[in-house]
Amino acid sequence: MSAPAPSASPPRIPARAASVPGSGIREIVMLAYGREDVVHLEIGEPDFPTPAHVVAAGDLALATRNRYTPSAGTPSLRAAVAERLHRHYGLSDDPESVVVSQGAVQGLAAVMAVLLEPGDEVLVPDPAWPNYEMQAVLLGARPVRYPLRPERGFRPDPAEVASLITDRTRVLVINSPSNPTGAVLEPALVRALVEAAVERDLVVVSDEVYDQVVFDGVHANAAATAPESVVSVFSFSKTYAMTGSRVGYLTGPSWLLPTVARVQEPLLSSVSAASQASALAALEGPQDVVGLMVDTYRERRDLVVDRLRSAGLEVDAPAGAFYLMLPLADGVDSRLAALDLVRRGVALAPGTAFGDVARSHLRLSLASSAQQLSAGLDRFLDWYGATSGGKR
Ligand code: PLP
Repeated sequence: MSAPAPSASPPRIPARAASVPGSGIREIVMLAYGREDVVHLEIGEPDFPTPAHVVAAGDLALATRNRYTPSAGTPSLRAAVAERLHRHYGLSDDPESVVVSQGAVQGLAAVMAVLLEPGDEVLVPDPAWPNYEMQAVLLGARPVRYPLRPERGFRPDPAEVASLITDRTRVLVINSPSNPTGAVLEPALVRALVEAAVERDLVVVSDEVYDQVVFDGVHANAAATAPESVVSVFSFSKTYAMTGSRVGYLTGPSWLLPTVARVQEPLLSSVSAASQASALAALEGPQDVVGLMVDTYRERRDLVVDRLRSAGLEVDAPAGAFYLMLPLADGVDSRLAALDLVRRGVALAPGTAFGDVARSHLRLSLASSAQQLSAGLDRFLDWYGATSGGKR
């Protein structure tokens, strides 16, 4: 039998999916892809090898128990995560209070899918990691941006956030330490944001994937402030340099978690058994690897901040995560600047990829060697001088 002839116009893709915005970081990544003449400072991914004991545990699981696992995660990993959250943040040590996800990104997507109806509004930082907006749009929800102003050290103003809440707002997304700004929100500020949300019956989705990458101050866990209103989302990706394993986890209200766990089933059945074994080894093994990586990011941060300040640029030293915002001259379109800079041999992520507020900033990733950072800064500062901060 011959195949039916295709119709003249292909089937319609629903607007929800068709309007998911593309990533403005990827444009630069693709342009610079595979180019050895370009210094790569555009990617937010640890440049350290995955610790050997983490790799070995995954290999062993592949050889011995490469099977589906429960959709909320293996009991042993859930128990180890709950124990960690109890020890670090005083949260419940009940394994049932944890759902393991395929990276933080899938955990966030599952939570959003459970909480949002088409037409609902989600408050999202500006600038923010682009995936929150993509996830909301895919669900037919409306992302509403609240500003993280450079002059406030990229911190939100709780009163301004509260003023954006409407009858349709369901979720407030917060992210500390922040990608892309590196800002770490103080405990009092996190509490004020949570209070503003709880007062209007919102759920706070707190992205804490960089909770262990803090240089100054302390990480404030949001779930501890209002366990029945906050979902805190974490990741193994950054802490243990294992982005490819794709393991994250979340904890949240007892009224919400069982549904999130159930939703994991149609979304992914279960996270890779080998990756979960690696994650368990990461938690149970030596933790000095984390400190060593964080110390290295801190040294790189100091090197970059010193260099930029000596060149006369006013930069905020990031207190966490591994990013730094480079200010361009007022009004400069950072996308055009980033395209120009790739031609000059250095790849940086444009602020336009993260929203509107940082449209005249570039994000530099500290996840590159000191040597690479120095070479990248040479090229950036040459360009900066020649163009008066990107104006020409
Ligand atoms: N949240 C933020 C703020 C991130 O920067 C990233 C990765 O870049 C993620 C979540 C996703 O992490 P994962 O690798 O666990 O999916």
